[in-house]
Amino acid sequence: MSPTRRAFCFSTLLAPAIGLFVEESGRAAGREPRGPSSRVNYMLRYFIRSETASQQTEGLILNCRENHIPHVILFSGNHWDMGWNMPKIDEAKARVEVLRPVVERLRGAGLEVSINMWSTIGHGDIGRDERGRFSWQFMVGDDGAESHAIPCPIDPQWKRHVSQLYGLFAQLEPAIIYIDDDFRLHNHLPVTWGCFCPLHLAEFARRTGRNLSRQDLVQRVLTAEPQPTRERVEWLRLCGDTMLDAARIISDSVMQVSPKTRMGLMCSDPNVHAAEGRPWLAMLQAFSVNGHQPVLRPHYASYHDGTYRDAAREICMMRKLQPLLGGKMLFTPELENSPGTTFSKSVQLTRLQIALSSLLAPPDITLDIHSFDDTRFDYDPAVDVMLRNSFDSFNGVADWALECQKERGLQVLWDDRFPLHRKVEVSRMTSLPAPPCWEGAMDLFGFATTFYPGEVKLASRAYLEERSDDEIRSLLKGKVLLDGDSAAHLVERGFTRETGVTGCEPVAGANYEEMTNKAFAGKYWNQDETTVYDYKYRLNPVDQAIVVTEVFGPDRSFHVPGMTLYANSSGGRIGIIPLSGSHGDLYNMGFRGWKRQLALKKMLEWINQGPLPLFVEDAPNVFPIRRDGEKSVLIGIANLSADPLLRVRFEIANPFAGEPRVEYLSPDGRAAQIAAQTSLRGRSLQVQTPVRIEPLALGCFRLAWM
Ligand SMILES: [Zn+2]
Repeated sequence: MSPTRRAFCFSTLLAPAIGLFVEESGRAAGREPRGPSSRVNYMLRYFIRSETASQQTEGLILNCRENHIPHVILFSGNHWDMGWNMPKIDEAKARVEVLRPVVERLRGAGLEVSINMWSTIGHGDIGRDERGRFSWQFMVGDDGAESHAIPCPIDPQWKRHVSQLYGLFAQLEPAIIYIDDDFRLHNHLPVTWGCFCPLHLAEFARRTGRNLSRQDLVQRVLTAEPQPTRERVEWLRLCGDTMLDAARIISDSVMQVSPKTRMGLMCSDPNVHAAEGRPWLAMLQAFSVNGHQPVLRPHYASYHDGTYRDAAREICMMRKLQPLLGGKMLFTPELENSPGTTFSKSVQLTRLQIALSSLLAPPDITLDIHSFDDTRFDYDPAVDVMLRNSFDSFNGVADWALECQKERGLQVLWDDRFPLHRKVEVSRMTSLPAPPCWEGAMDLFGFATTFYPGEVKLASRAYLEERSDDEIRSLLKGKVLLDGDSAAHLVERGFTRETGVTGCEPVAGANYEEMTNKAFAGKYWNQDETTVYDYKYRLNPVDQAIVVTEVFGPDRSFHVPGMTLYANSSGGRIGIIPLSGSHGDLYNMGFRGWKRQLALKKMLEWINQGPLPLFVEDAPNVFPIRRDGEKSVLIGIANLSADPLLRVRFEIANPFAGEPRVEYLSPDGRAAQIAAQTSLRGRSLQVQTPVRIEPLALGCFRLAWM
């Protein structure tokens, strides 16, 4: 019999681990408090070549002194010595001896030193064949692809080896020992998604009594219906246990050798980790060695310059785990650049991303800014100059961010539940992670969002699929905006009374949208909005629903309701945009424009029954952030456009009585009152400033009430 939705919710899977963690973390937090510091902590990740170690060390010290860098993260290995191979124990011992005097010298120069383990499982084959070096089981993919370099992480041989490796590098007593993001089951090319090796299949059979071939197991995990099959549930549990067990082994090994060292973990997209069954809170407990708060290093920003859409999504990926793990782990976002020159990422975008990190996750930031291939500091020095010149500015941002710690915005609903109920069409594990939906989409219109609790909630199908009926019912008593995929899912599950639509079916051939509702269209009433997107739904709203726009077929051959609103009898206020967020419709250029923006603003205000947490006016493609303090509000506006933002204007839901003093943070990091005009209309506070925000720059305002 198939397990039910309620029987296999995430909390059931992990209840014992969570209970244990709560007790442990309370003790851990009491032992080693870390006070907030507004001084931005540049953590420089750097390769030391074995043959040039001593010269590089002196250059590194000089570079750190010049550029305000207090913390260096040295790679355990390097690809010149090792050819990207997993080191054998003798090779690792030799490398530790290379690094030992480097670490001592750096410490003597007053630097904090951490170690980044270059290979724990290994990133990918990269043309290597390690079958002659190691005799463990190598990883096998869901499609049968066999790695010749990546070990299977349940092979006891690998566990013993990795325990020894970490113990060796722990001898250097690093402040943090980081496991790199090769600590995962996906993306070990040629293995796209592991591990379906004979050891894993045997362990699955031992746990379940089911002897399945790889092909049959993959089919049962992914495309069998209805989900979750017992195989999906047990497979995700086995994958989670695989990594949790490895985490414990590594932590124990480090703790025995260097009790003062903190464990650090780099992570990839949290949606992808959920599809690997990653049990975050149990993992956190495994890493909380000796009462130290462990460190999370989320992947932050692409390896290269991108468009405003890329930038917006990447900021969201970095923020996603903060509500779950912030306060329990130190966040040291990893600002990426590969291969580490200004060919791949501009100085200006690097500067903006550090400024944003100072605002969203102060004060630590991991910097990948130097080439892995040429580690001379004069090879590409432009980012170093920026670090030096912008240090005061970043400190100013962090200072305000630590004063104002509570994020406010439309809440993007997300948590770390596994994709147990997600229906996939393609029998590849890469189709299992939930796709992004709202992440960054509303921000680019000027609406601040957050992953912390907010009044108006943005729901995706992937989120709703993993909720029980009771959870959905409770959610729909509140203020919710749905995309078409999530509305269709709710209709399928019978929530028509709550959503105000009795049907939500795919429709093809619609080609433009009209702003037909005067109350929501304002000056754009009866005008068309271009709609060049492929996935739409035909809504069937009840009579009491408000139809905001209508969608037409060619030559008005048909028309269907577009964006709608509905106030249900439980007090819920529900909006629907009948597009497919999970197919990227909310990102499409055809979705974006001034008319859409105005209609969305009025819809969101209707849902919220008042002003929104933050809306930036007249500003295409920004990323706005609001953080509240005791008597102040911090507004950060990242201009992701290539055009400057002139005379910045924004509107917030006023949190205090009266009008505030408005300060602006100048590029040199000094706060100064500016000649801003403020006006109160009900609960809405409008602020007009003379400030210009340059392309790819962050503007910060502080509103202070007496
Ligand atoms: Zn395996």
